[in-house]
Amino acid sequence: MLKKLFQSFRSPLRKPQQHVRTTPEVLSSSQHSLQRNQFSRYAVNIVERLQTAGYQAYLVGGCVRDMMLGITPKDFDVATSATPEQIRAEFRNARIIGRRFKLVHIHFGREIIEVATFRANHPIDDEDEDSNQSSRNESGRILRDNVYGTLEDDAQRRDFTINALYYDPVTERVLDYANGVHDIRNRLIRLIGDPQQRYKEDPVRMLRAVRFAAKLDFGIEKHSATPIRPLAPMLRDIPSARLFEEVLKLFLSGYAEATFEMLVDLELFEPLFPASSKALEYNPTYTHTLISEALANTDLRIKQNKPVTPAFLFAALLWPALPARVLRLQERGMPPIPAMQEAAHELITEQCQRIAIPKRFTLPIREIWDMQERLPRRSGKRADLLLENPRFRAGYDFLLLRESAGEETDGLGEWWTEYQDANDSGRRDMIRDLGSKPDATGQGPRKRRRSSSGKRKRAGVDGSE
Ligand code: ATP
Ligand code: MG
Repeated sequence: MLKKLFQSFRSPLRKPQQHVRTTPEVLSSSQHSLQRNQFSRYAVNIVERLQTAGYQAYLVGGCVRDMMLGITPKDFDVATSATPEQIRAEFRNARIIGRRFKLVHIHFGREIIEVATFRANHPIDDEDEDSNQSSRNESGRILRDNVYGTLEDDAQRRDFTINALYYDPVTERVLDYANGVHDIRNRLIRLIGDPQQRYKEDPVRMLRAVRFAAKLDFGIEKHSATPIRPLAPMLRDIPSARLFEEVLKLFLSGYAEATFEMLVDLELFEPLFPASSKALEYNPTYTHTLISEALANTDLRIKQNKPVTPAFLFAALLWPALPARVLRLQERGMPPIPAMQEAAHELITEQCQRIAIPKRFTLPIREIWDMQERLPRRSGKRADLLLENPRFRAGYDFLLLRESAGEETDGLGEWWTEYQDANDSGRRDMIRDLGSKPDATGQGPRKRRRSSSGKRKRAGVDGSE
């Protein structure tokens, strides 16, 4: 309480923040397009009950923004003046989650509504009174943001103006503290406050700007876009586990292709994927085509409600960075296959220092890559064994991806397409015909392997040097 008083007393003395009001613009039901019954009835009930109990409560964030744009929200978030304990006292189906910053999840069957207590930003020059730790590091990054605040504080600590709209389903009014409605109408992503400072507080906001710009097809307002390139390297200091979560959101939300273009343009791709970014420099056409095609496929699958695996995505994002490493190891005298294995291992290990890809995905990445070495070797029973491999489909799709990016594989993708469609005798014929091809792969193990290894190496990692 004292702290809150202290903050509100001090706030007029602080540098004036752009775009934030202390009194919001209030839009009545006739001034906006939102309708109470479009929102999750559970979320609306929660707001009503909290208000009846004497607290302030609103629907907030992505759901209000998306509804205004006619997009179906992913989920519904509630912000309230009630503390987590007070919220839990009102709802039997509520669980407090998170240790340092507590949130409440209220469960209704499979639907979960997240209810958060209004929060405030740590002011720049405010040292935590109960400890001698600072809430920010030397570059201004917020290390802890676990302070409760007022509704106004809560609006101010949010990232973008379009994410700081509060909808009261009881009065059907929208509270707009930061000109968010104006920016929605003009299709602009604009940070609340001083962009440079807000990015420094949390560099992940640069990725969020790109994510929302791609998802909503919005532009990034000039002053919010300009600091991104110079500040992009700050992403190197973000914990790799958080970046993994963010990168999944960037590439698995159905707008990955546009997101990738924007990340490259704003120089945010380099701190996330340094090796792939190098490949984009020394082999731009191939690298760009392969990654874009993979992302376009992912977007399409998401639109069709088909499953997508992060492993395939990471396999594609990193693949163009492999050949240079394979070559380097080969130049040191390592044979092609071990060089490929070692390069894959090194690349994934390095990448995980930036983005903590969990083991359950790194293993399948390796399998998809290994499959590229095995797909050309089809003789005898090999083709049928490969077909039974649970990773065959991903490996085959990956082969087609490489071909569409311009890799020369001597019709291997088409061969496999035909093979899958053929009946037993057709398949036997196809295998027999392989023997007559000059580059038939893998018949007499030793000799053939040596004579075809150059070819196979190329089939595996070519098109990139
Ligand atoms: P979606 O869920 O559709 O991706 P969203 O806007 O709901 O979009 P969330 O990540 O769910 O995004 O965050 C909920 C809200 O919390 C945001 O709308 C924003 O107001 C606030 N927020 C989230 N992350 C940050 C951040 N890094 N800095 C400031 N505010 C944030
Ligand atoms: Mg959300």
